[in-house]
Amino acid sequence: MATTLEQLRFDNTYARLPAGFGARVHPSPFPDAKLVSVNPAALKLLDLTPEEARRPEFVAAMGGEAPLPGMEPFAMVYAGHQFGVYVPRLGDGRALLLGEVRNAAGEKWDLHLKGGGPTPFSRGGDGRAVLRSTIREYLCGEALHGLGIPTTRGLGILGSQAPVYRETVETGAMLVRMAPSHVRFGTFEFFHYTEQREHVATLADHVIAEHFPHLAGQEGRYARFYTEVVERTARLMAQWQAVGFAHGVMNTDNMSILGLTLDYGPFGFLDDFEPGFICNHSDDRGRYAFDQQPRIGLWNLACLGEALLTLISEDEARAALATYQPAFNAHFMDRMRAKLGLREARDEDRELVSDLFARMAEAPVDYTRFFRALDSDARPVRDMFPAPEGFDAWAGRYRARLAAEGSVDAERHARMARVNPRYVLRNWVAQEAISRAEAGDFSLVDRLLGVLSDPFAEHPDAESYAAAPPAWGRHLEVSCSS
Ligand code: AMP
Ligand code: MG
Repeated sequence: MATTLEQLRFDNTYARLPAGFGARVHPSPFPDAKLVSVNPAALKLLDLTPEEARRPEFVAAMGGEAPLPGMEPFAMVYAGHQFGVYVPRLGDGRALLLGEVRNAAGEKWDLHLKGGGPTPFSRGGDGRAVLRSTIREYLCGEALHGLGIPTTRGLGILGSQAPVYRETVETGAMLVRMAPSHVRFGTFEFFHYTEQREHVATLADHVIAEHFPHLAGQEGRYARFYTEVVERTARLMAQWQAVGFAHGVMNTDNMSILGLTLDYGPFGFLDDFEPGFICNHSDDRGRYAFDQQPRIGLWNLACLGEALLTLISEDEARAALATYQPAFNAHFMDRMRAKLGLREARDEDRELVSDLFARMAEAPVDYTRFFRALDSDARPVRDMFPAPEGFDAWAGRYRARLAAEGSVDAERHARMARVNPRYVLRNWVAQEAISRAEAGDFSLVDRLLGVLSDPFAEHPDAESYAAAPPAWGRHLEVSCSS
């Protein structure tokens, strides 16, 4: 059911939580803001048509210049462990919760404006975002969503000619993003470490009422809530690992309480399978390297557990944390079996997978292209290995494993093509879209948005974006400064 902008029903229940949860803020959008790309799939979640988004009122409302009735732009306070060190006060320094909107299906969406100017939590920052990082977040949200991974979504990009000063002068932009909630692990940490016990409970009750309604009013609800967050996080980590996604800044303030991928910065998808891949150029020690993510997920959950200790006992926290590793392993193996086209679960599968990883890393081979090409005719993947004899041994075991479950080639290939993407947002591809957009041409941003939202299909006119990176795109450095 299509709606007009004026028919959207906004509310902001978060802004009405007790004082201390954040601050009302007047956005200070770029005066020349204009819509440069809009996401039709996200618009649909708000029951809006692309025509509605082309109205100047859309830019004025979503950019924060002329909020719609019911919107109450609000900067949320939070804290967080950044690279292992507790930072007692962070908060939305360049983002704002514009409001919550309910669609015709009854789903509630937070609309967040990123880059809308300073807030009381800007800590000396300019409250801005650059076009480069805005495009990356916009495209990657859709890429992960297309891959079936929980994430915030980009509604649209508001472009500007305004300069933003980083390591160099860049073009500014604003991103409107959506999620069912923007509450972070760090939101709980803030109230815990400022010794506002009652607010830890208020926040937990709010999150439970809005997002875990089956637990509301239940005995032991806080421990059960925490256990569900553990489960969701374990699943998210398994999903990231299976598609070769590295987040890059897994600080607890970037961890969603709903297990969504949140706060895209210097993320990267694997090109070559490199387990120790560090996508964040500022992460000298590789704390957030690709293969560290599952462990960091657990570490972050332990921080969250600590912050809930006024609501749950240490034993309850420990019991919940103990479910992480088995949940991660189970989800991860499910994904890997699906990628290999295996239907049955067998004990030897772990070894089959780890052995494959060792060979892929040694070659190295392109992670996404390998799985997309893998079939019982080993030739296309075999040719990816500089010394294919080692791979032959693995392929023999794989064939035997397939035979043991009576796998049928054609049926399995069709299944594998639905789980092994042809397209992921490779850094070099994002960079092409950014370079063109910085010159005023957003057509590739729009095209990629479409391709990435359907990453398992063949897109003949976008064939080149499924390729391994060209030499210039192999080691692009992406920093936190965005
Ligand atoms: P991030 O690393 O992007 O997740 O941001 C960490 C913290 O720094 C958050 O509290 C952000 O709101 C804040 N922050 C990042 N960039 C800016 C900026 N340009 N202006 C103000 N605050 C910022
Ligand atoms: Mg963040």
